[in-house]
Amino acid sequence: MPYPQRSIRTDMSEPVPPCPFETTVPLSAVGYYAIGGRARWFARPGSVQEMVALLGWCHRNQLPAMVTGKGSNMLFADDDFPGVVFTTASMQRIFRVSDHQIFCEAGVENSEVALALFDAGLGGGEWLYRLPGMIGATVRMNGRCYGREISEVASGIVTAGLDGSVRFRQRGEIFRGYKETTLMEGGEVVAGVLLELPGSKPKEEIRSLMEGYGRDREAKHQFDFPSCGSTFKNSYAAGRPSGQIFESLGFKGRREGRAKVSEHHANFIFNTGGAKAVDVLRLAAEMRQAARDQAGAELELELQCAGLFDASLLAACGVPAVPEPSRPGYAWAGLLRFPEGASATFPRTLLDGPLFDYSGLCNQFPQGLQVRVEQLLPMAEARREPERSFIRWTTRDLSGTTGDSIPDTMQGSFTDRLWEFGVSELFLGGQDGYLEFESTAAGHWIALRFDAPRVRSAGHETPSEALWGGGVRPLVGQTGFGMEFSFSLLEPFIRDGDLPLQCCASLGQGRFGLFPWWNDSGTPDFHQPARFCPVRLV
Ligand SMILES: Cc1cc2nc3c(=O)[nH]c(=O)nc-3n(C[C@H](O)[C@H](O)[C@H](O)COP(=O)(O)OP(=O)(O)OC[C@H]3O[C@@H](n4cnc5c(N)ncnc54)[C@H](O)[C@@H]3O)c2cc1C
Repeated sequence: MPYPQRSIRTDMSEPVPPCPFETTVPLSAVGYYAIGGRARWFARPGSVQEMVALLGWCHRNQLPAMVTGKGSNMLFADDDFPGVVFTTASMQRIFRVSDHQIFCEAGVENSEVALALFDAGLGGGEWLYRLPGMIGATVRMNGRCYGREISEVASGIVTAGLDGSVRFRQRGEIFRGYKETTLMEGGEVVAGVLLELPGSKPKEEIRSLMEGYGRDREAKHQFDFPSCGSTFKNSYAAGRPSGQIFESLGFKGRREGRAKVSEHHANFIFNTGGAKAVDVLRLAAEMRQAARDQAGAELELELQCAGLFDASLLAACGVPAVPEPSRPGYAWAGLLRFPEGASATFPRTLLDGPLFDYSGLCNQFPQGLQVRVEQLLPMAEARREPERSFIRWTTRDLSGTTGDSIPDTMQGSFTDRLWEFGVSELFLGGQDGYLEFESTAAGHWIALRFDAPRVRSAGHETPSEALWGGGVRPLVGQTGFGMEFSFSLLEPFIRDGDLPLQCCASLGQGRFGLFPWWNDSGTPDFHQPARFCPVRLV
């Protein structure tokens, strides 16, 4: 089985999703293919923090969940979907990280990425222009065209894990080769992508390439009707593109209901208006069978089926699926895979990634500052032994910047004159109260407790080490600096098994960093507990 079976909840008295959402939304109005039944919830997280919170909410409520970008490679089922479909469309931020790198949230459209690279005078992303879809999904699909592939330029990927973690993945951890990624296992969702381009190029040259690709797609009639682009991947073993195979088998113009194979590209199935998912799948099944029987080609479906389908059609198209016990002959495809409770190993990564410039408005923040937060023990064990170290926070400074300006003394003025020093910071908690820890590379540290944003708790008016007793254990070693915290210290800040947290750094000279990132203009302000990221403890 590709993913665990769970009972599908249709109880309408559920609490509401923790981000903007609508109910009973026709997926035909959402996806590029204009096909599909209604989603019980259609959610639009606007940040990685909201995405993590939404995934946690789906997990807690045992709701089936699916993610979509633009839907230009997705076939939603005709049946209504009793769970949550969420889109990355509200995650649109783009910021420059260095001269040759830009960071894009998952919902930035491919064409917008190409335009941003054009604006920056960076060559190597022209092929993304007029490639339908969003950059997060394009990474997931390892999209490619005109001899280029997203794996060549996506140097790092921030994912929201279905285990409630947020991680920065190196490209080698994600891309597996031709149109294949580890993300296809359904255990992580792309929240953002770091694109690294080889170099500058004259803008006229970039523009001319982009326009040429756009014209080529028009000339090939790709946009005549909604489609998912190529229905099947190419098979190198087959020796020729799938489109040529289907053309030679006479599929151009073949119809099934309102679905029709393009007259111009025999691997495209158009929705000529009102097509059903079942029409598309019947055509696809017929094409796959013909390719096997008549051309000896074993082809893999590229379009991604999402929802409840006729199991025999999914099988005929080679799509992995999970049978629905309450509806014999039907099976689920395209669901996200939440982990089973007992599968965690410790230490367990909750957050792991580089700090990005606070507001994303300049590229002044040094690269190479990495933060990691780990859960060291299962919650049940921590409850039994609450003074043991439960969470470990480390900062690894490959840039050497945190050593730039270390305070000589640990006076009260340290926090008040924070901008003069190089410190890594961790915030833990939420709007009802939170903790702030600050540590220098040499292991000097202080901590503060707040009842509300910037309102220091009674007895915690002055930053101090002494108040924290054995609940905080500082660490300084070759792999970084930071501290471990006991369960008893953190327990008051855990809500529904989630621990909201935020990593930051303040390096002096107006340089502030965040992981996960926010997008703020104006004076940097770390004290925004509503924006902390609710990582999940187990
Ligand atoms: C006219 C046309 C031409 C096309 N030409 C090409 C081409 O030349 N080359 C090419 O490679 N593709 C092509 N495609 C396919 C499509 O453009 C790409 O696959 C694109 O990357 C899909 O983006 P999307 O946002 O529409 O993804 P969606 O269709 O919304 O999603 C695709 C898959 O990714 C998953 N997904 C969505 N967002 C995320 C996320 N943030 N994290 C993890 N998983 C996610 C979905 O669940 C689904 O399984 C074409 C499509 C059309 C309609």
